[in-house]
Amino acid sequence: MKVDSVEGETIPGVGQLGWSNSGLHRGGVIRSIELIPVKLPFRTNFKIAFGAPRPGIDVLVLKMHTESGLVGIGETQAWLRQGSRDTLRSLISIIEEQFVPRLVGKNVFNHASILKELREAVWGTNYALAPVSDAILDLQGKILGVPAYQLLGGRSRESVCAGITLGISQDENALLEDVAQWLEQGFTSFTVKVGNDPERDANVVEKVVHAFGDKAIIRADGNSGMDWAGALRFMNRVEGLGLDAVEQLLPPSDMEGMAELARRYNTPIMADEMVSYASDLLRVIQMKAATVFQTKIAKNGGAWACKQLWEIGSSAGMRIFPGNHPGASVASAAALHLATAWPGPLLEGPIAVGINEVLAEDIITEPIPRKGKHLFIGDAPGLGVTLDEDKLKHFKVEL
Ligand SMILES: [Mg+2]
Repeated sequence: MKVDSVEGETIPGVGQLGWSNSGLHRGGVIRSIELIPVKLPFRTNFKIAFGAPRPGIDVLVLKMHTESGLVGIGETQAWLRQGSRDTLRSLISIIEEQFVPRLVGKNVFNHASILKELREAVWGTNYALAPVSDAILDLQGKILGVPAYQLLGGRSRESVCAGITLGISQDENALLEDVAQWLEQGFTSFTVKVGNDPERDANVVEKVVHAFGDKAIIRADGNSGMDWAGALRFMNRVEGLGLDAVEQLLPPSDMEGMAELARRYNTPIMADEMVSYASDLLRVIQMKAATVFQTKIAKNGGAWACKQLWEIGSSAGMRIFPGNHPGASVASAAALHLATAWPGPLLEGPIAVGINEVLAEDIITEPIPRKGKHLFIGDAPGLGVTLDEDKLKHFKVEL
């Protein structure tokens, strides 16, 4: 099909599409991309199944400048664990060398075709795609004068409820004290990180359930750290504890093992590391390898791509656990806009690590409002968050 009288961009196989003579077209043309790598400290070191306790996170902030002088922002993280391989350097190299030449001159209102082209330029690059896709959403909102949730389906809820993740700790009493404090603040959903030692892991989960199981929802997350024998030992111990879900005990390559766990145990099994793309989620559904799945802005390539996964998963009757890697509040905002727009049920996931004050520092000027576990997305255009340039300068790293 050829559309008459337009001088917009040419899309192969589609013809010319455009906003030709409108201000919207000119407002949405991408001029340049700016990348700012930062390291942000945690309040206390954070430990997952793999590696030493982590003192902070590597965050990449992307600014997308348009010909009209507008700036859209997005965020990704280099959070290394099974299923991810990106560092700040590799993310910058993919974006600068492969994405920028394909982005400059494009109109942000051609979101889907831009993402398709970038995906095909470099396969398996969700972590690099995420800040591009979310910056596009931010710019669309700023140009149209609407919050990003309006571009993802409109407002479906007044607030989004977040949960808390508890890192692996050698000090079990301190961990129990932490849970008590978060409960006092109004949080009711907790994920206990496990994956190092099945017997010790089961002991910790048991203690948390015995102390707080009557007033909180408790889950455990193995971060792919267990082998088959370890997963069986752990599941045998926790099966009767009434956990809401046990998340990704086995490596992402062992979907058969995860399916076997889901078959053997009544405790719901959650997929995280093994779901990067829609094709992964379809395979999880086909194999009945989980009944709950988690999405993350960086892992899954931005809010737009997460929405696709939520549509697929909910259509298959799966529960959605909206998460994020530890990160700053630009990625939190993207996930919160999607959750605000989502009309179906959502679990209380670790959607906003910065907001929960786990980070010692954030990079936005005004925190996203929180009351207890409730996070509130307002009606400012786009993602509705503003970068704190002084903080960015302070935490910027030279690579
Ligand atoms: Mg996880």
